[in-house]
Amino acid sequence: MSIAIISPGRDPKIWINVLKKYQTDLDIQVYPEIERPEEVEMALLWQHPPGYLSNFPNLKLISSLGAGVDHILSDPAVPESMPIVRIVDEKLTWSMTNYVVTGVLNFHRQITRYQADQKRSVWDMSNPEIPVKVGVMGVGALGGDVMDKLHYLGFPVYGLGFTLKKDFPYPYFSRDQMDDFLSEINVLICLLPLTPETEGILNIELFKKCNSGTYLINVARGKHLIEEDLIPALDEGYLSGAMLDVYRKEPLPEDHPFWEESRILCTPHIASVTNPEAAGPQIIENFRRMKSNLDLLNIVDRDKGY
Ligand code: NDP
Repeated sequence: MSIAIISPGRDPKIWINVLKKYQTDLDIQVYPEIERPEEVEMALLWQHPPGYLSNFPNLKLISSLGAGVDHILSDPAVPESMPIVRIVDEKLTWSMTNYVVTGVLNFHRQITRYQADQKRSVWDMSNPEIPVKVGVMGVGALGGDVMDKLHYLGFPVYGLGFTLKKDFPYPYFSRDQMDDFLSEINVLICLLPLTPETEGILNIELFKKCNSGTYLINVARGKHLIEEDLIPALDEGYLSGAMLDVYRKEPLPEDHPFWEESRILCTPHIASVTNPEAAGPQIIENFRRMKSNLDLLNIVDRDKGY
């Protein structure tokens, strides 16, 4: 029985080496050279070709090769009953937190402003710090750590999640309290999973409800943002700037207006890239648990969609 790696366009060698380190006799088949599909019991997926999983009659478990599972759940060929697990690990969390903290500090200490001043030899000591209150949409594995680290740095933090939570360590709002959440903050971080409910959540109507000059950081998925709404929201002053790591179309097309927009800082979906060394052990552990019918790690709730 084998594991299939289906991650088109990426070099699978590092994954093979890591997985074999933890289980030397593991049989691994790699897309597109999967010659014994009937032997595949577990599939490791990143941007797989939709429909491809119907080739595997004995598939028992799907693992995302990242934290998100929207690329799997959007494939109608994935059976409703198929368990799906995802990556949650300290390295992924650490990198994401560092990225978001960079964005918050850049806004707070106005590094972009001083870079522009330096180019023009401008010495402007006015208003060196923008007071910051940070709102995190999505307080799961990644958002929770972002809140802890920003709190440690002394920033007030506010969280927004799906379910009601008692004993959450910071001010917390459930999804039907969005307006109250937005009224508290001037930095808005999106760390939501992409689901039918969250798609397009970052839109002009939401931006209008933000405190004037709110700074947006979207590190979740490109489809959370209605991209056509962002520059108008900046022009109207609802937002003062944005840092984006994810886009509706990736790579960001060469003629996309975001490339030229000085108020938007763009990075190429690198906020937190899965590290095979860090993620390998949980993949092997889930393979073993699947074979022994034990509870799986980091399982996706199919009803909630994340
Ligand atoms: P989790 O599943 O651990 O957390 C998701 C959070 O979102 C939970 O707090 C959940 O609420 C909340 N949530 C879900 N739906 C809603 C909703 N409709 N309204 C309000 N809150 C909602 O996910 P992770 O923290 O592990 O990852 C988050 C996302 O980050 C991933 O799905 C992925 O898209 C993205 N990501 C991006 C990367 C990058 O490099 N740019 C890298 C890694 C991940 P509750 O707690 O109540 O369930």
